[in-house]
This record gives sequence, structure tokens and C-alpha cells, in this order.
Amino acid sequence: MSNRWNPTWKIVKIVVDDKETEVCYDESSKLYVCPECSPECKRGVLPTYSSYFFNAEDLARHLKAHKYALWTKKVISNKSEIEIETQEEDEDEE
Ligand SMILES: [Zn+2]
Repeated sequence: MSNRWNPTWKIVKIVVDDKETEVCYDESSKLYVCPECSPECKRGVLPTYSSYFFNAEDLARHLKAHKYALWTKKVISNKSEIEIETQEEDEDEE
């Protein structure tokens, strides 16, 4: 096997906002994986890209943040707004 790392995925449930959420946990590395970032982990596949967490609390916080898509925000609908904002530079310097 050429894998650097053979994950042993387990589906575990953590509570996020009082709701049970299935997440992936790798018993060999003791890392939690975000199922939103990498749904393929539930099929036992090593994700090419994901977010890993050392504890369930951090993952819970990360999952909450997904609701607001704080980092991978698809800005298509908001794009013009953001462009307008960035164009507002300090023109009236005194
Ligand atoms: Zn994620």
C-alpha cells in the first residue's frame, strides 16, 4: 500500500446545536473529520481535502460555522455588494 496513512473511519455522533450530527472519526489518527468538507469519509475514503479536529468540541464549532459558510462562502449573489464595498476607499482625506 502506498498510502501514507490508512484511516479507520468510524461514524460517530456528536451534538451540534442540540442536534445529533454524524461525523467521521479516524481511530488510527484520533482525528475528527468534518463531514461537510469531506462527505466521502463516510464511505471510508481518505479525503483529499478536509478539516481535521483533535476533539469533538472543535468540530462542533466548525460545523456551526458551516451554516454561515464563513470561509468557503459562495459569493456569487453577494459579489457585487462586496465589490462596491472594496471600492469605497478613503477619498476624502483631510
Ligand atoms: Zn467543514
